[in-house]
Formats: sequence, structure tokens, C-alpha cells
Amino acid sequence: MDLRRWLHGLSTSAQPATLDQKSGTPARSIIPLTFALSLLTMGSWTANGETLGHCRFDPDTLSFSGGAKEQAQCLLRPVGKFGHVGADPAMLRSNLDGLIGNEVQISRDAVRSALRSMGFSEAAVGGSLDQALSHGRGGSAAAPQARYLVIHDTSSPWFGDRQFSSDIDTSQPVNNLRQYAVRDPVAHMFINRRGEMLVGHQLSVPWRATKLEREIGIPSKGMFIHVESIQPRRRDPSGGPKNDAVAPNPGFTEEQYNRLALLYVVASSRAGVWMIPAFHAAIDEDISDAHDDPQNFDLAHFDTSLGQLLSGVR
Ligand SMILES: [Zn+2]
Repeated sequence: MDLRRWLHGLSTSAQPATLDQKSGTPARSIIPLTFALSLLTMGSWTANGETLGHCRFDPDTLSFSGGAKEQAQCLLRPVGKFGHVGADPAMLRSNLDGLIGNEVQISRDAVRSALRSMGFSEAAVGGSLDQALSHGRGGSAAAPQARYLVIHDTSSPWFGDRQFSSDIDTSQPVNNLRQYAVRDPVAHMFINRRGEMLVGHQLSVPWRATKLEREIGIPSKGMFIHVESIQPRRRDPSGGPKNDAVAPNPGFTEEQYNRLALLYVVASSRAGVWMIPAFHAAIDEDISDAHDDPQNFDLAHFDTSLGQLLSGVR
């Protein structure tokens, strides 16, 4: 059932109740309306054993359907233009296949020294390695830690009808991270095409950046760590005047895959369990007004970057 449509109908039908109340007549809609308002304060969506989205997020278990690898195979299906997500489960390459859902065996000290050798402080990758990731249910200590590392692209800057310039991987206007350092940054971490990073929120902060998290409300808040990688977009002439459907191909740079792999290792190390990577568009599939990112993400490339990084950390 579409709860919001039902609530809307209920509040509309409750209008005369106010008049009834004024005239002293018992208002038959008052109790349902109170119930409806209490639901609204709980969030925009309730459980009742229902799941949300194509990969079926369950607000009771705070997981998508299936084991960790099955979830990844659903959440990493390739994202096509206009947000069309591939039908077949994603094929996991050897590194991700061997890790996802398993306990992290690498010591935090090993991750720490790898960070140091790359010239990064722990603050530069979202906070102390000794601190837990955000907890679900809006940061409730009793709720599990974040399980999902959500891969986004910024879909900006927008080139309109212009071709992508040849220097998108290096130019300052495209790669300026400061434009994302606003009052409420949209993600935990940002990676530009040169491999530089910006912390939007510490990884311990519950933060929502998908339609699914908005629909579910507080229960899902904190279960997802969000990483945005800069990817410019341009207009598809066959689409509307403001569309941003065309992405560069390849979609991301070597440096971006390397940094994303680093953040995956860092976040998983903090969680103690190898996280489930997920594409934003796959999370929101089957929910209205879903996004189309990331475009042209090469999962095999990410797996290779992860393997190279791990060979230096173990
Ligand atoms: Zn996104």
C-alpha cells in the first residue's frame, strides 16, 4: 500500500471532522487522524514486514534481501543511462567475492601504516580508525553499524550541450572539491578525478543520501556510508532541455578507483566486517524519482584497485 497516498486521503477526509468538533459532534475521523499523524512522526514509511526497492530493504533487519554476497550482486548491477539498472546479478571478481560479508582479518595498525605511507591522516579519510561507523536507527548505540558503502557520482559539473573538455581529469573547475564543502554536504566523502578527497561528514555520522533512506525514515539512517566521485555530465540531445544523461567514458579515473578502494578498506576496518558496496541507482530502483548514478562504473577496475591496495596492506 502507498502509505502516503492513504494518509493524504485520510487527512482530506478528516477535514469535516474539525467542523464536527466545533459543533460538538463526536468526530469519527479524529482517532484515525491521530494515528496517522503518529505514523508520520515515526517516518515516512513503516515496516509491517514490507520491504522497499528492487533489492528489498527490510526496515526490521536493516538489510536487503539475501546473504551479504547476494545483496552485493543485486546492489552492484550496472547502471545504464536514465537510471536503467541491469537485470542480471552482478558478477563479483575475486577480491570482492572473497571479502564481502567476512570478518576483516587485517589489523588496524596495518591499515594505519598503509595510510601513513600514502600520506593520509585518519582525519582525511573520515575519522579515527578506532571509532565505529555510524549506527543505524538514526545513530542508536543498540543498532548495528553501517553495512553499505554507497558509490555515487556527483553528476556535476554540467557541460550542457558542450563536449567534455579534454582536461576533465585534471582541470581545477571540474575538480574543485570546495564546491561540495557546503553547510550540509550531500555525502560522507568526495573524491575528485585527481584522487584528492574531501570529508563531508565523519564516517561515524548517520547521513542519508538516497531516496530509499528518505522513504524508510529513521530506521535506515546510519546504515549507509556515502561516497561521491566527481563525474561531469552533459546533455543528451534526445532528452529534455536540462537533462544530464551523458557521462564521460571511461566514467572514472584510476585515482578515483584507488581512493574508493582505500575508503572501502578504511570503512570495513572500522566496521570489522567487509562492507557491501552498492550503487546508488540500484538501491533506489523501483522507487519513484530514482537517480542514475554512478554511470560507467567499471566494477572489474574497482576490484583490481582493491587487490593492488590489499597486496600492500596485508
Ligand atoms: Zn547518488
